[in-house]
Amino acid sequence: MSEAEPATSSSELPPEPSVTVEIMDDFTEPEAKKRKVSTSIRNLDSKTDKLEQRLGGILCCAVCLDLPRAAVYQCSNGHLMCAGCFTHVLADARLRDEMATCPNCRVEISKASATRNLAVENAVSELPSECQFCNKEYPRNTLEKHEESVCEERISGCKYSRIGCPWRGPVHESKQHESECAHPHRSGLEIMDALQVIDQQTANERKLFDSIFELLGYEKITFNDLQLKPYRTEEFVHRLFYETSRFSAFNNQWVLKARINNMQKDPTQSSEREMTYQLILKTKTTVPLSMHFLILRGPFGDMKIHPRIHKFDFSEQENESPYVPLALSDSAECNRLLASKTINFRLVLFLASK
Ligand SMILES: [Zn+2]
Ligand SMILES: [Zn+2]
Ligand SMILES: [Zn+2]
Ligand SMILES: [Zn+2]
Repeated sequence: MSEAEPATSSSELPPEPSVTVEIMDDFTEPEAKKRKVSTSIRNLDSKTDKLEQRLGGILCCAVCLDLPRAAVYQCSNGHLMCAGCFTHVLADARLRDEMATCPNCRVEISKASATRNLAVENAVSELPSECQFCNKEYPRNTLEKHEESVCEERISGCKYSRIGCPWRGPVHESKQHESECAHPHRSGLEIMDALQVIDQQTANERKLFDSIFELLGYEKITFNDLQLKPYRTEEFVHRLFYETSRFSAFNNQWVLKARINNMQKDPTQSSEREMTYQLILKTKTTVPLSMHFLILRGPFGDMKIHPRIHKFDFSEQENESPYVPLALSDSAECNRLLASKTINFRLVLFLASK
């Protein structure tokens, strides 16, 4: 496998590659956007697509072809857009100082002329989606609860993890493990190490939240709800990367880029996936801009991310921050994001005044 196929996986991973390759396709096949296993089911028997799959093709966003997770908007001719794409279309037009138009039929759209479509929102939330742990299908509106607290296959830790037990496994095996776990019999001395690790984590978290509150006191704060879209580099061996379109903040234009496993080692060699991103200043600035930035899930996205603050001083010479980790919860979350057509998130920028 070439190293340009970051989504190609080792045997431990779910069958991502075909889905991720689809990301790169032109947006011409509305039915090609269901989640993993459903895709392979469809390939096996495409003539007898289930009703849910056909509906998925009809109710998906006309721009990103994903099934909307939040509000659904429509133009005056009825073309559907997810909230992320809708916001993106409006922001893009504002940046170019043009009237926004429907990507399908070019009729003008605005916050006022577009309407929500509640029937579609509700219908989508009833469509089945697959649990990442047990691979059974559940309505989308109950899936999160199922994966978080119901599924017997979901991964949990040992109840003695606080005193150092590293065990992780499916919930239904945890009782058995805990009955045999050696950690409750350890001495206080041995437990001290584990407690120190926890203390350190708590202190780090405390520091993070203190700095967020500190930043919230800044005079200049702005946020943008953005979409990362996949592209491939022009090199002989194409590499996948992600980029937002330009957005404006503090009277300058910016772009955010992201990549997988830092494009260094061959991502197919490991089942660990990591996304990193950089912030790029696109306009010339004569004054240095001392920026703190922070990525959040935002109102239209669903990424599971830990807040991390990064800092970079932008100037005329230095207009690209280094790549910093997008602190996703784990590799599985990274793979899940890679399988969706766009990644929605909120970028908060803090500008230090001098
Ligand atoms: Zn969309
Ligand atoms: Zn339209
Ligand atoms: Zn499940
Ligand atoms: Zn244990």
